[in-house]
Amino acid sequence: MHLTNLHTHSFYCDGKNSPKEMVLAAIDNNFNSLGISSHGPVNEETDWNIKYEKIEEYIETVNSLKEKYKDKIEIFLGMELDYIPGIGFTELCLSLMKRLDYYIGSVHYLGTFKNGVRWTVDYNIDELLRGINEGFQGNIRKAVETYYETISEMAEEFQPPIIGHLNLFNKNNKNNILFDEREDWYREAVKKCLNVIKNTSSVIEINTGGMARKYTEEQYPSTLILKMIRERNIPVIVNSDAHTTEDIAYKFNDMYKLAADIGFRHLVYLTKDGWEKQKINYCDENYI
Ligand SMILES: [Zn+2]
Ligand SMILES: [Zn+2]
Repeated sequence: MHLTNLHTHSFYCDGKNSPKEMVLAAIDNNFNSLGISSHGPVNEETDWNIKYEKIEEYIETVNSLKEKYKDKIEIFLGMELDYIPGIGFTELCLSLMKRLDYYIGSVHYLGTFKNGVRWTVDYNIDELLRGINEGFQGNIRKAVETYYETISEMAEEFQPPIIGHLNLFNKNNKNNILFDEREDWYREAVKKCLNVIKNTSSVIEINTGGMARKYTEEQYPSTLILKMIRERNIPVIVNSDAHTTEDIAYKFNDMYKLAADIGFRHLVYLTKDGWEKQKINYCDENYI
């Protein structure tokens, strides 16, 4: 198999390691390619996005790693860019897209508190509930539907190469505290979103980052949603959303097996000329 991971962070955003350390970890894991995808810039100062003044250094660093390790691994310059309700991608993100090999389109922000500060669905449950109370009159269903509508809007308008962690909302849904994925309205919201994505060129990632960081017991998207993705023949790739070198291939073998069990025949991987399909190979349970 062509081993790859296109969703990795470094100390240019909220990751722990340098891009070079991530590359060396990928080589150690016999990867054929690696995408470096720092959180792109946003207008407000955060502790997880790249700082405006670091953007050029980031691009130069990744491009020099590309050259330095070209005999060992293919490196792609990427970013995880925020699609923000009511704004979309900022002008800066739109101009960066043209300089990147690919990007991951992600929805983290869903609204603003009454004090004007933006909130994300993946910070913690208290912040999320406050955001839903202040922005959606406490209506969880409305907030979840708006989240999937925002992803649909992003997919329809921009067809991001990769759509990040499709059901990120689940990070704060331990013990179904917010909703039960099996409820009709929820499945309907996801279905509508997938029906938009299936008519675009976007790939959906199977993301193990929530599990790697012990936030969730399941990958993004859930197995229930992956089955819906399979039914629609939407292409998928396995990524780990690694914030450290240790997580560079977190549970990849399990995800290959899961994808095959669900009925996916192929995973995709990125090349200079776009996406290629590959058959799924995985080791059985005895593999460590
Ligand atoms: Zn993300
Ligand atoms: Zn990420």
